[in-house]
Amino acid sequence: MTAPNTPPIFDGHNDLVLRLLRGAVTPEGVVKGLDDGHIDLPRAQEGGFGGGFFAIFVPSPSEKSIRYEEMQKPQYDLPLPPMLDHGEALTTTLDGFGVIEALEDAGALTICRTAAEIEEVLARGDRMAAVMHIEGAEAIGPDLKELHEFHDRGLRSLGPVWSRPTIFAEGVPFRYPSDPDIGGGLTDVGKALVKECNALKIMIDLSHLNGAGVDDVAAISDAPLVATHSNAWAVCPHARNLTDRQLSMIADSDGMVGINFASAFLRPDGKMDDDFGLDVMMRHLDHLIKFLGEDRVGMGSDFDGALVPKGIKDCAGLPNLRTAMQEHGVDDALMKKLTHGNWLRVLRKTWGQ
Ligand SMILES: [Zn+2]
Repeated sequence: MTAPNTPPIFDGHNDLVLRLLRGAVTPEGVVKGLDDGHIDLPRAQEGGFGGGFFAIFVPSPSEKSIRYEEMQKPQYDLPLPPMLDHGEALTTTLDGFGVIEALEDAGALTICRTAAEIEEVLARGDRMAAVMHIEGAEAIGPDLKELHEFHDRGLRSLGPVWSRPTIFAEGVPFRYPSDPDIGGGLTDVGKALVKECNALKIMIDLSHLNGAGVDDVAAISDAPLVATHSNAWAVCPHARNLTDRQLSMIADSDGMVGINFASAFLRPDGKMDDDFGLDVMMRHLDHLIKFLGEDRVGMGSDFDGALVPKGIKDCAGLPNLRTAMQEHGVDDALMKKLTHGNWLRVLRKTWGQ
């Protein structure tokens, strides 16, 4: 490798948009640099964070649903918040599109609709490459009208659920230890949503879906199966992680998995505690490559949405991850695939361009 911040990392999931929706951060602040959080443009350039999927997520109105203190215990099962109101979800989601567009206007990122555009922005390195993603389809009604409007506005990836239920599917709770086989599969409109995403070539994200939902998407979808930010259940038996059976299905479909940096989904003891070594990430990497092969694994940091290992800290710390992978035996060719090449491959296959 030529520099510690290369090759650029294109990443499966971040929640920077939520920080702007909450008013904690401005687009200009992201360009100039922030005092906290995981992502801003100067730190992205320092660490070689080339961009990724920028999630639009509507928080539940009630109290904080991901309670880190609870997730320090040896076992936990956080109750899921109730379904969101469609109208409120739609308002916040439209604001989320506005936030990503404002980040583009401010010069922080470029909204990408094709793999070629992502490649161009990664090569330039002056801004982050952003794919518009919705995490939890609450803003879409049963007639799927909004899906078309969102596609027109640049949406290219969609998760039918964040963990709470929607009219389309059910998600897994933050439960450890637990397998993901909790609750029922896709509803009829959920199945229609998958078909419509296929028709529009919007990538479908399996992360957060429960076991029955993943099986249903696998049976219906004509696209590669993708989990943007999930880990290996065999290493950390958290409900959010993927079992070997699910990994085999993803491999068969020629899809991929982005490794989630969230401490609770990495650590074998499931604790949301950032004090552990990057060797734990290498165990997930090995297991995912064993089941998926070298062409179907990438990154899915969950930056600005999770507590990431101390050894990474924020996107400026990504050179430490590259070093850990290198020391673990990842050669230059594999490094390119894991940092961005595999995402480009799967997106090209899913989007057709
Ligand atoms: Zn998530």
